Amino acid sequence: MPNTFTERLDLEAIAEQVGTPFFLYSAQTLRDRIQAVKQITPGGSLQARYAMKACSTRRVLEEVRESGVWIDAVSGNEVLRAHQAGFPLGNRPPAILFTADVFRDNALAVVQETSVLPNVGSPGMIDDLAAAGYQGPIGLRINPGFGHGHVRECDTGGPSSKHGIWHEDAERTRKAAAAAGLPITLLHTHIGSGPQIEEFNRNMSRLVEFFEEMLPAYPDLEAINFGGGIPHPYQPGKTEVDLAPLGELLSSAHASLSARAGKSIRVEIEPGRYFIAPSAVLVTRVHDLKSTAENDKGPGHKFAMVDAGFTDLVRPAMYGSYHHITVHGRSDGDREAVVVAGPLCESGDVFTRDEREFLEPRELTKLRRGDLLVFHDAGAYGVQMSSYYNSLGRAPQVWHDEEGFHLMSRREALEDITSNECFEPLAL
Ligand SMILES: *Cc1c(COP(=O)(O)O)cnc(C)c1O
Repeated sequence: MPNTFTERLDLEAIAEQVGTPFFLYSAQTLRDRIQAVKQITPGGSLQARYAMKACSTRRVLEEVRESGVWIDAVSGNEVLRAHQAGFPLGNRPPAILFTADVFRDNALAVVQETSVLPNVGSPGMIDDLAAAGYQGPIGLRINPGFGHGHVRECDTGGPSSKHGIWHEDAERTRKAAAAAGLPITLLHTHIGSGPQIEEFNRNMSRLVEFFEEMLPAYPDLEAINFGGGIPHPYQPGKTEVDLAPLGELLSSAHASLSARAGKSIRVEIEPGRYFIAPSAVLVTRVHDLKSTAENDKGPGHKFAMVDAGFTDLVRPAMYGSYHHITVHGRSDGDREAVVVAGPLCESGDVFTRDEREFLEPRELTKLRRGDLLVFHDAGAYGVQMSSYYNSLGRAPQVWHDEEGFHLMSRREALEDITSNECFEPLAL
């Protein structure tokens, strides 16, 4: 169910201070989700990480850290941001795992300097680490040959996935790591969320068997990480995910994997979306309403023109994802089907689409110019995937907790957008 925490809040007062669009975070909602995950992974032999790419804002990371949840980072800069938010570096314990598809920018330097545990996603990365002089433990991210994303673009396991080491290449990668003197302390996979928790749990059971088979060849193993992908119900009327069966599955995985290894094997999961999706909304203003009329090209539509674009929330444009939309302060009254579209010079800048990316008008309370719309469940892959397209700055982020409201990031101005531009001679 989409979160309704904004119903009790005065969004107009916030808009007056920070303008629109803006992201608004609910500390309480985040804390509730963290507690739900901690129920099944309290720490120790069952450990949760937060896949911080879902939302890396400092206050969010601090909240996660205080709860004892660890981090999965996917770039050198994410490792450094996690550290800035107070997560310890080093691999004893490996509070920050660095899962990389490719080592770019500062990635190898960060691994060298911080000793965070690198989790290797393709065979050649063993050579990259060895060439950089890295001497330490590593993780191997395996593609077990099956998996599921919430949409096809998000498939993270199986032959069409770019992620991880194909399971049939695991053995030669293991030997390469041994030859390079890099002990493998973690086996990892992240095969994506099925749209349903039942499918997710089925995949998890298959993974336990998969890793039980692999385990004897990895004497240095300390942990197995089953990735993220706990689904979040974005549609109204969908029930909350029950994590209890997953909890049982993880406990029994810990028992069976430890029995097979003859020592305790820590079991990890690393959800991103589940932690943060419902904790933020994107608030946007309706600037105008206009219509087109049916002709030989197709049906006419009523358009609500809002000031948020796919530069702020790309999921509908990129995946045809559903975000629940409400009209702030006006839940009853006549309803009408509208297409909600943004300010960008790009016809794809539409928030109401179906999975095939066609326009899908949404029934909303009859809109007026100046209304505030709330896009719910915008916390995961929201601000984090925003861009500078059309030279619009990224929207500000506001945090709400028992102490009131805090601005966590300013609206970006022209200077922010152009701050890295230069014209310097290259000495070639
Ligand atoms: C993105 C990602 C996750 C989190 O996925 P969610 O669907 O947000 O839970 C976990 N692990 C890795 C390696 C990832 O890249």
